[in-house]
Amino acid sequence: MKPTLLRLRGRLAITASILGLLAACGPAAEPITPPPPVPPDLAAAPAPKAENPIEKGDPQRITDDVKRLASDDLGGRGTGDEGSKLAAEHVEKRFRELGLEPFGDAEGSGKSFKQKFSARVGAKVEAPTVALAKKGQKASKSPAAADVITAEGAQTGEAKGEVVFVGHGVTAPAASWDDYAGKDIAGKVALIVDGAPKPEAGGKNAEALRDFKSVRYKLRTAREHKAVGAIVVAAGEELPAAPENASGMGIPAVVIKRSAAKALFAEIKWDDAATTSPKAATKPKALTGTELSVATRIEPTFADAWNVVARLPARSGSKTAEEYVVVGAHYDHLGKGGTSHSRAPGSREIHHGADDNASGTALLLDVARRFSKLKEKPARSVVFIGFGAEELGTLGSRHWVEHPPMPIGAVTAMINADMVGRMRDRTLVVDGTGTAAAWPELVNAANAGLSLTLKLGAEGFGASDHASFTAARVPVAFLFTGVHDDYHKPSDTADKVDVGGIDLAATLAARLTQAVAERPERLAFVEAPAPQDPHKGGGGGGGARGFRVSLGSIPDYAWQGKGVKLTGVRPDAPAARAGLQAGDVIVKLDKHEITNVHDYTFALGDLEPGREITVEVERDGKRVALKLIPAPGR
Ligand SMILES: [Zn+2]
Repeated sequence: MKPTLLRLRGRLAITASILGLLAACGPAAEPITPPPPVPPDLAAAPAPKAENPIEKGDPQRITDDVKRLASDDLGGRGTGDEGSKLAAEHVEKRFRELGLEPFGDAEGSGKSFKQKFSARVGAKVEAPTVALAKKGQKASKSPAAADVITAEGAQTGEAKGEVVFVGHGVTAPAASWDDYAGKDIAGKVALIVDGAPKPEAGGKNAEALRDFKSVRYKLRTAREHKAVGAIVVAAGEELPAAPENASGMGIPAVVIKRSAAKALFAEIKWDDAATTSPKAATKPKALTGTELSVATRIEPTFADAWNVVARLPARSGSKTAEEYVVVGAHYDHLGKGGTSHSRAPGSREIHHGADDNASGTALLLDVARRFSKLKEKPARSVVFIGFGAEELGTLGSRHWVEHPPMPIGAVTAMINADMVGRMRDRTLVVDGTGTAAAWPELVNAANAGLSLTLKLGAEGFGASDHASFTAARVPVAFLFTGVHDDYHKPSDTADKVDVGGIDLAATLAARLTQAVAERPERLAFVEAPAPQDPHKGGGGGGGARGFRVSLGSIPDYAWQGKGVKLTGVRPDAPAARAGLQAGDVIVKLDKHEITNVHDYTFALGDLEPGREITVEVERDGKRVALKLIPAPGR
């Protein structure tokens, strides 16, 4: 599961349990688990249960699959690592054993199980250079190589200009704070100290000033003031890690150790007290008569990744044989950590990902196994997909939805399993049930005799691969057993996985798949209502920054072009009311240029509920300006 929405995930579970409570004691609420009606085809089935392969999982195989995928041999299945290739091969081997049809790329004379794509996995960062010279002179001073590092958010390029000291580099109108006030730094290099101004205790700017520590924020703000480069002074003698994400904020930039900065810029006097007291907000100071050059080079790196795709064709003669039900689960995980996705910072141990998502992959394979044993094939074809590169931003499912082997409109439903290995109290979250009117009834029917406590959520957008299908207007159902303390840590190991729970969830998933594959009418997509506790803003990537506003926009985190592309907008939310649409690329929000999702996050932070702003988007090659009124955040 993708990390950005984990917090929301936790909240979802809470919302779901509150709903459950309401159902128990309030007459107005929709019952979450009405008494499950027995589905007609199950009730009427003449054969005893044990003979219906849809009903019978294989706990031993589930155990073997989880153990294999979460083993040390597979090294945490990080995209670009050998382990993710081995994991893809494991899924392929299973599909082959089951006699399913390969349904990936065309290869040689036939199709392969694999659909290959390129995943952006990180950044290649060259050592930066910094040199300070007197204007017009060749001789220059440089810090030692060990004293500087390329800043997170730096752009490839070289900047040359006069140095201007701008304190913490914060421009925050809401806090009446501007480190850039009264100084034109166009064409110059900003020298910025790490951290944020300390708000006055109890002062009205306390809230507004809390989140300006992000280096990306400082670079973006310097760029908005037309600086050509930036030097960020570390809080002390420790430098951050080299950036892992090549998405730049528009200017070359480095972080320098404090002692090295003091030595290099000895003529600029700043003391820590002066830069942290609001009464003494830094006045910009220029180091006149000097020229500083900063050069950084940072490029994204790519690796091969694969979706592993198999098809069970519909029975011959079926009128709906060209319609499809997709069952999916991602098999990749975080490798040996070392990225911001890991919740064990500093650890380079194998992140086993037994729950995330060896469990869902084992469920996928178990459902495929059940279907492969059917004597009579279903009325619609079923496609089983092990997705790659989910942890990097649902890249595999995005790729599949954009390059499906059939028109995407032929997919009638998608069932996704991500983190289904920690079932507690027979409780299963089923999200996405607002994406088709029939889902709640079908899901409850699939629970017949299983006595699972189902927590139904309407939301079709969430932190896993089903969101790619929701964006493509395919009805989705997402199975999930909840977050836990081992999430995205090396300790998410196979011994902690509840195989019986996966088996139960697989029975529900298999019944659901069958119900959707057999029903005469295809499921029709409907826009899920906004969740009760709406996901805020749509930001992400901005650290712990909270949002005062909510727009209901859903950014495409895999988009690599300029701006922020929307995968969708929530119905009845400000973005939808403003006329924003899926596919729009936001290039300006209020007065802020938007070059990437980080810019978007920072710009959201400056909006106020109820204050109308203009948002500019690129749509079909044209720039369109729309009026938008942000709603309050939470
Ligand atoms: Zn994950």
